[in-house]
Amino acid sequence: MTTTVHGIAHRLRPFGESVFAVISRLAAEHGAVNLGQGFPDFDGPPEVREAGKRAIDAGFGQYGRSIGLPELNRAVAARWNALGKFEVDPDAEVTVTHGCTEAIAATMIGLVDPGDEVVLVEPFYDSYPACVAMAGGTVRTVRLRAPDFAFPLEDLARAVGPRTKAIVVNSPHNPTGRVLTPAELEGVARIARAAGCMVVSDEVYDEIWFGERPRSIATLPGMRERTITLSSLGKTFSLTGWKVGWSIAPPALTAGIRAAHQFLTFCGATPLQRAAADALSAPASYHESLRAEYRERRRHMLEVLRAAGLSPYEPEGSYFALAPHAPFGHTDDVAFARHLVSKVGVAAIPCSAFYAPGADGTRDAESHALVRFAFCKRHETIAAAGERLRALTPSAHPPQP
Ligand code: GLN
Repeated sequence: MTTTVHGIAHRLRPFGESVFAVISRLAAEHGAVNLGQGFPDFDGPPEVREAGKRAIDAGFGQYGRSIGLPELNRAVAARWNALGKFEVDPDAEVTVTHGCTEAIAATMIGLVDPGDEVVLVEPFYDSYPACVAMAGGTVRTVRLRAPDFAFPLEDLARAVGPRTKAIVVNSPHNPTGRVLTPAELEGVARIARAAGCMVVSDEVYDEIWFGERPRSIATLPGMRERTITLSSLGKTFSLTGWKVGWSIAPPALTAGIRAAHQFLTFCGATPLQRAAADALSAPASYHESLRAEYRERRRHMLEVLRAAGLSPYEPEGSYFALAPHAPFGHTDDVAFARHLVSKVGVAAIPCSAFYAPGADGTRDAESHALVRFAFCKRHETIAAAGERLRALTPSAHPPQP
């Protein structure tokens, strides 16, 4: 009998290798200051790390409950309630996953059928379309546009139709740093209610904001029953490698998420879930000082980018700053990012990976206009990037359109 080795499945071929893996590898190869992949270059709070070590020695070494360690489900629900959202049943409505990325996958695979459409907002976190593809669904897109990245409600109303299963929103937004206004969230909610579709709300940056506290769309009238809210420990506690995430959704939608989650990972890492349960009861002062530190890092990052001749957009939340690369004479964002990492010694993310290609597999010029700098970094890292960015010189000959 012969077998044929086909390689990558057709539905995943368009996605290639994740831009984060590519840029992290180039950063290491060139010894670049890494402002690419969004992970802090400092460690999480010592008391949370100690709790993790204690849990490893205290008999948390085996699989836990598939839906999450009971104390973590309770802590997620308690934090949600403490923020004045609504009462959540920890066992019926909270599911703990292996980071928010698994929660996104479980949501799509568990709730989207072939033929269903999912509306994404460009620029988007790159795992959204890949997970829709794994579920066999079809992506439709609307776009946030520079300079204000306002939510395109009219485009959304046009993109939503009888096959729409879900609209994915993310606020604070990776990569633009937008925090959706109450009016924008109400607009999305109105469209979702009228279409009878779900909303998937990725809120992993919910504690990193610089103006108004972001709202959860699930708290708007008629939205609780149709919203899946996703979040995680990683950004709030600077422990992205712990991969502790969760979903909050009404029981009927939770059933779909769990149907997939049990076969994806079965459960997250047990001792880290135990420690995460303690971390989530951190006092408000922890979150306030996190924000104060991020406010300073944002100020520093913007200063360094401006000194280099870039014109960054000011993020309202998240730990990313976007800037157009147009003044520097490169053909597109990928060429600019390659120049930056190999010649200047600073790694940043070319944002074209956050836009859907057209039918011919290529992306339009607007999709290639931006690069993303992560400022979840020590001040000395941001300063070192600043030193290197001095080598960046605006081109006397910008490319012709
Ligand atoms: N969320 C992180 C970022 O946007 C990346 C996570 C990952 O590498 N998959 O940079």
